[in-house]
Amino acid sequence: MPELPEVETVRSGLAPALTGARVLAIEIFDERSLKRHKSGPSDFVRSLVGARIAAVVRRGKFIWMPLEFDGAGAPRLALVGHLGMSGQMLLRKRGDEPDKLTRVIIHCETSRGKLIEFRFIDQRLFGGLQLDELVATPDGLTGGFSSKAAKTAWWLNLIPATAAHIARDPLDVNFDAEAVWSRFHKKHSGVKRVLLDQQLMSGIGNIYADEALWQAKLHYDQPADSIKRATFDLLLAAVRSILEKAVAEGGTSFDEQYKNVNGESGYFDVSLNAYGMTDQPCPRCGKGIRRDSWMNRGSHFCPNCQRLRKTA
Ligand SMILES: [Zn+2]
Repeated sequence: MPELPEVETVRSGLAPALTGARVLAIEIFDERSLKRHKSGPSDFVRSLVGARIAAVVRRGKFIWMPLEFDGAGAPRLALVGHLGMSGQMLLRKRGDEPDKLTRVIIHCETSRGKLIEFRFIDQRLFGGLQLDELVATPDGLTGGFSSKAAKTAWWLNLIPATAAHIARDPLDVNFDAEAVWSRFHKKHSGVKRVLLDQQLMSGIGNIYADEALWQAKLHYDQPADSIKRATFDLLLAAVRSILEKAVAEGGTSFDEQYKNVNGESGYFDVSLNAYGMTDQPCPRCGKGIRRDSWMNRGSHFCPNCQRLRKTA
């Protein structure tokens, strides 16, 4: 399942071509990829055709494109994309070879007059596209991360209504570590569960949680309220450095589903220390990495470096 680095790789791949592009036409091959758009596929097409894409923005694992329309009084809408388990967003030139499992094609003309296709591909259909109303962020600050934009851009402090409850991610310039700590240290759940809570901090899933906990030498089940501030700071620093490195390497392609906008895989797999490394030697101490069943998934950890402690 894509996490922040994979979604950011997609965002940064889409942004140069789609910023300023105009939507010319839409082809729908499978309406199930529009199931989140409550007013139905024909409304999706009617509302989106003719719109201009102002930017490509991300918070955590959410990606959206604020839309501009000709004429006054137009609604403040964004095209929201969910990758789900297996979604891909590819950019192709008009008339390129078809991609298998393409569900929706949005035909666009770039700001330089090139004809391109934004293709939404999804094998397992947990992802999808929708139009959503943009609302003010609860803290009045930027909605999410985007490429350079004018400070006066109308969409800067807005967020899609369906993403408004999602917390800022640790790479967000407005991420408030104090505020996160004040909630974190009151939680009695295991630290991994807390890391995956998208309403506390967003963008982290199973892969990067396992990697950050390995780096911070924390057991996945260590209760958050037993973790001292200094250890929390180490954990947050680990989360940030791992996410940044993974963004730089184009994300992880562990399950073969995740692809960048050109249909290529990322390179972070070779940097993994714990995730997916069952029985491989821990790069720090040499003991075998173990995988425990955990919440219908798995947790990878070093039983030597990451012991459950009474107080951490
Ligand atoms: Zn170890």
